[in-house]
Amino acid sequence: MRAVVFTDGGRVEVTDVAAPVIERPTDAIVRVTRTAICGSDLHFLHGKAPIEPGSVLGHEAVGIVESIGEDVTRVRPGDRVVVSFHIACGSCWFCRRGETALCEKHAILGAGPFGGDLPGAQAERVRVPFAETNLLSIPDTMDDERALFVGDVLTTGVYAATLAEVMPEMTSAVVGLGPVGYCTVQALFALGARTVFGVDVDPARRAVAEASGAIAVDAARVNPQMVLARATQDRGADVVIEAVGTPAAYETSVDIVRRGGRVVVVGMYAGEVTELQLGVYWARALDVRFAGLCPTHAYWERTMALLADGRLDPSPIVSHRLSLEEAAVGYELFDRRVATKVLLAP
Ligand SMILES: [Zn+2]
Ligand SMILES: [Zn+2]
Repeated sequence: MRAVVFTDGGRVEVTDVAAPVIERPTDAIVRVTRTAICGSDLHFLHGKAPIEPGSVLGHEAVGIVESIGEDVTRVRPGDRVVVSFHIACGSCWFCRRGETALCEKHAILGAGPFGGDLPGAQAERVRVPFAETNLLSIPDTMDDERALFVGDVLTTGVYAATLAEVMPEMTSAVVGLGPVGYCTVQALFALGARTVFGVDVDPARRAVAEASGAIAVDAARVNPQMVLARATQDRGADVVIEAVGTPAAYETSVDIVRRGGRVVVVGMYAGEVTELQLGVYWARALDVRFAGLCPTHAYWERTMALLADGRLDPSPIVSHRLSLEEAAVGYELFDRRVATKVLLAP
């Protein structure tokens, strides 16, 4: 089958690889109808995360179940499904509490040794372990393209907005308007927020967030702290969601939140280090919540329902629809930030 693989030179290419087969009785094989390139896929290209040359990349997919292991009863061949970007067992202590991102057997499709060495989803077919936990049926009325987002960024947005505990009268701000930030803006509105500021230096990203109702703040031109202070009688935002994953974005988030406010950190971190003055956090009574990876399984049914209702719509961030064969071009466009979100059709 055809698949997007990581090559020696830190690039990607589309090549022939062995098709996946059922390895465990809890597996399913899904024939992929749509997959996507995610910001975290770029980490492998930039050497920020290890991966072996020849590994199939990607963790976002929708498709049709083609075959199932003998223990799988909840999904059947022929079902249209979305795949969770991270794989959880569904039965350990953490999974039973809904904390599936902390699963004892946690893995991520197409994410190298730290992801459990599972082949990725940017391929004609993908093997999904613990299929009953990691596949969600797609309603008949929902198209593949929108459903795809339920497996990753859209559900992450709903998770971040849920952790924010936003109320209608609150002023909220999202720092970073990439795909996760954008989905968080939408989710905040869907969960009742009325005033959402969106901070980013990129004009295209600000424009799509603005079209969703956010008040855009150009961090390259104005000081976000001043803007938020002016909007709140000098207090600052009640709640801030940091959706970038850099110390600078984290610091901006702490700068623009009010005393007694909440910062939700959904941006992804690895080895970054920052200094924080504990006294400032203590005196300002800040509530900082590190989201970690989104426990997709605990939030994706709710996300699918909001999407089906039209209260969420990720389509505006899709900038490029390419065939799987054109994946290398898609990676390049995404890496150069020419593309906001690239979908691939096998
Ligand atoms: Zn992703
Ligand atoms: Zn588990």
